[in-house]
Amino acid sequence: MASSAERDNPRSAKRVAVVGAGVSGLAAAYTLKSHGLDVTVFEAEARAGGRLKSVSHDGLVWDEGANTMTASELEVKELIEALGLQGKQQFPNSQHKRYIAKNGKPVLVPTNPAALLKTQLLSARSKIQLIFEPFMWKRSDPSRVCDENYTESVGSFFERHFGQEVVDYLIDPFVGGTSAADPESLSILHTFPELWDLEKRFGSIIAGAFKSKLFSKPDKTSQRKVKVASRKDKHKRGSFSFLGGMQTLTDALCKELGQDDLKLNSKVLTLAYNHDGSSSSQNWSISCASNQNIEAVDAVIMTAPLCNVKEMKITKRATPFPLNFLPEVTYVPLSVIITTFRKENVKRPLEGFGVLVPSKEQQNGLKTLGTLFSSMMFPDRAPSDLHLYTTFVGGTRNTDLAKASTDELKSIVTSDLRNLLGAEGEPTFVNHFYWSKGFPLYGRNYASVLQAIDKMEKDLPGFFYAGNHKGGLSVGKAIASGCKAADLVITYLNSSSENNIVPDK
Ligand SMILES: Cc1cc2nc3c(=O)[nH]c(=O)nc-3n(C[C@H](O)[C@H](O)[C@H](O)COP(=O)(O)OP(=O)(O)OC[C@H]3O[C@@H](n4cnc5c(N)ncnc54)[C@H](O)[C@@H]3O)c2cc1C
Repeated sequence: MASSAERDNPRSAKRVAVVGAGVSGLAAAYTLKSHGLDVTVFEAEARAGGRLKSVSHDGLVWDEGANTMTASELEVKELIEALGLQGKQQFPNSQHKRYIAKNGKPVLVPTNPAALLKTQLLSARSKIQLIFEPFMWKRSDPSRVCDENYTESVGSFFERHFGQEVVDYLIDPFVGGTSAADPESLSILHTFPELWDLEKRFGSIIAGAFKSKLFSKPDKTSQRKVKVASRKDKHKRGSFSFLGGMQTLTDALCKELGQDDLKLNSKVLTLAYNHDGSSSSQNWSISCASNQNIEAVDAVIMTAPLCNVKEMKITKRATPFPLNFLPEVTYVPLSVIITTFRKENVKRPLEGFGVLVPSKEQQNGLKTLGTLFSSMMFPDRAPSDLHLYTTFVGGTRNTDLAKASTDELKSIVTSDLRNLLGAEGEPTFVNHFYWSKGFPLYGRNYASVLQAIDKMEKDLPGFFYAGNHKGGLSVGKAIASGCKAADLVITYLNSSSENNIVPDK
């Protein structure tokens, strides 16, 4: 790994603790290490990867957490290049073909204006509303774009612009598929900050999207983005995974850390900030469940979910630093069910990415959130005589069903796949994984969570928070968040080295 320690960090013996070996923590650790810092990653579980969890079994490969990711964030592209993982990236077959269930049947999601006009997903009225949105929503009418309390839901925001049917048959399945939540419980400001901003600036979301693309001056970052993108195969765009599944990425990151730098089965219990003004080094001590040793470090990147942070004991100069200001985060539970069917038993197989099920379709007997056509996307994930499907059940739509038994879930999935794809008989293989806290819910009061994270970072010198509780739920956003936290740590350590005192907060 290239070390730029001399240039970026004159005192390269600085030590940083990263709490959590999910993708954000590992990306942070990799960034720090490649700048010559000593890093130790503490992970509570016996495995690294967090919500990236791939399994190989009997010729089958599946993911129990994230299935695909995108490289919209510059940090993702750079990380994949730095790890030399381009050769292992897998782009799904026919990934632009995505389906949404309507009246119990899968309907192709339109991907261009002509297809939108023809789609059976929406009525003529909704199509007209979509076409006229740029004319109906002008910035000159500020009363229409006002959300004084910043607590508007995703559902209400889209309903104002496009009507209820668009919410029911486009937005609801989309947010169900990406966050297992429903449009009413999600905050527009925190879930789609870019769209919230477009409304404020332009009124119309559609006109705003065009105008902001057209008039945006390429800044340094986007110029770098173009440079990286131009080196890539133009056809390899959109979502992707890796040979062997998503965990290939976190496995590669773990490989870059030395064996002693990653401590598994090491649940962090206490953190103490001890700076007494006499020295600028190793102001933090950290202890964990696995051993009695207390590790001394200069800075901490915390990536554990906030519900786990709440359980930690933090002290600041020997005085307890109570975490009672951290609000309760709501977590969305969901189950992931893997099934395989003999190809001859699936009468209406579909090529493409997968099918999402709107809440409204429960009235047509469909109970799942959606299914990925895993072996259609990636044929090496199952023997050639089988289809492998990944189905999601639960979410805010049906929290009880999320924790149902494997038998009950198997029969729900079998029934939905029979209706949607003509899958007959019993699956030849079933695997069930339950996430009791699958996603943090970016609810309408999520600002209080972000304020509490800010407070921790302000009040605790050398403490930085990263991961999917801040700035986005996707793998790409979690990576970007980890890399940004690492950059902040480097700046913080450089400035404290130069001043020889830690800037107190
Ligand atoms: C079922 C499912 C499907 C998903 N699908 C997609 C998808 O297709 N595409 C996409 O982009 N995103 C998807 N996501 C979201 C994405 O996977 C996550 O947002 C992202 O992986 C979160 O990474 P993280 O590092 O922030 O957190 P995590 O992966 O949760 O990592 C946090 C780590 O901290 C550890 N930890 C907790 N407490 C302590 C402690 N006290 N001490 C030490 N360690 C501790 C945990 O064990 C964990 O390993 C999905 C998520 C789920 C659950």
